[in-house]
Amino acid sequence: MEAAQRTISVLGSTGSIGTQTLDVLSRLGPPYQLRWITCNTRWQDLAAQVERFKPYGVAIRDADAYTAFKQATSFSGPILCGEEGLSQAAADPENDVVMSAMVGFSGVVPTMHAIRAGHQVGLANKETLVSAGQIMLPAVEQFGATLLAVDSEHSAILQCMVGERTADIDRFIITASGGPFRTTPAADLERVTAAQALKHPNWSMGAKITIDSATLMNKGFEVMEARWLFDLEPDRIDVIVHPQSIIHSMVEFIDGSVKAQMGVPTMLVPIQYALTFPHRAELDVPRMDLAALGQLTFEPADQDRFPCLRLAYEALREGGSAGCVLNAANEVAVQAFLERKILFTRIPTIIEETLSHMEHLSHPSLDAIVELDQESREFASTLTLRP
Ligand code: NAD
Ligand code: MG
Repeated sequence: MEAAQRTISVLGSTGSIGTQTLDVLSRLGPPYQLRWITCNTRWQDLAAQVERFKPYGVAIRDADAYTAFKQATSFSGPILCGEEGLSQAAADPENDVVMSAMVGFSGVVPTMHAIRAGHQVGLANKETLVSAGQIMLPAVEQFGATLLAVDSEHSAILQCMVGERTADIDRFIITASGGPFRTTPAADLERVTAAQALKHPNWSMGAKITIDSATLMNKGFEVMEARWLFDLEPDRIDVIVHPQSIIHSMVEFIDGSVKAQMGVPTMLVPIQYALTFPHRAELDVPRMDLAALGQLTFEPADQDRFPCLRLAYEALREGGSAGCVLNAANEVAVQAFLERKILFTRIPTIIEETLSHMEHLSHPSLDAIVELDQESREFASTLTLRP
């Protein structure tokens, strides 16, 4: 029997997840048709992807990049611009699957459009759930959309949950590599540089998530993401440091049994699983060799040395608009750190100060979230003027 055709759009196709998604799609072949690809500023990369992968259309967020792309290429398909263009691509009724692989809050509105169109959404853009999980999940239900995790930890949980009932879960154990500063003493963290923070031991990813991995905010975000994706209370989502990144996460059930999903660290597996779910397809990646590895090790996550993890749990317990403020302040602080304006240890204090300054909304609308994101950024930016 021939596989049914599936039409895929990739939002953020020029990024780390986006390029790997196009790679997976080209390996999967003809049943998968590429519809839209999108970028922010890197229009040359987008032009190269157009040549190679022949999408139906493109959407470019940045107005200058849009103009440059139009002038420099002879692409004859539709070319959309701005957040509106991205949202239009996301909502296209021809889409079967939308891969949401933009970085940061920029993913919220386009992802919401894909949800409101009732599409299957492969969600890499975790900031969407961190900022607006409380709004997204009811919309998923209302519009009959499906959210499939692309983050390796949540893909692991999804794989462990096949054949299981939510009622039988006791807790999730999300694994963390510990990042580049896993063994760095607290007193030395103040002096670490952006170049050191960008050297992740196990994963090659975009700059923003790599810094989030160094502060452990990425793990905090993943706790929040798990809470929304699988509807489990924060107190039942634990984090454990596992430096080898072989176990991608675990689910403990009410009878004490624990399932773990394992494999070499590569995003190709969770990306492909989100596209072929609930089935699997062959994939030519290095295979796990436990005898060569010798041992898998575990240690507790240190919330004193890495306060971002604690802040994420606190924001999740507080609920409402706290996640939006947490995310906005983090984006501003991470950018300032990458631009060498602030110290590494200033990232959590900027977030904490922004959280205590901004008003708290217990049931914000999407418009209120968009506004609060902007206001939180403005406030957090004033804090970055102090190193
Ligand atoms: P990246 O920086 O490599 O790519 C980001 C993409 O988003 C690019 O295509 C860029 O053009 C686009 N983009 C950036 N700013 C934009 C804006 N303002 N408007 C519209 N588009 C914009 O990021 P990445 O590492 O691929 O991460 C993407 C998402 O996936 C993030 O949410 C990240 O947390 C998540 N994620 C990434 C990995 C990974 O291995 N890279 C793993 C798990 C989850
Ligand atoms: Mg992850």
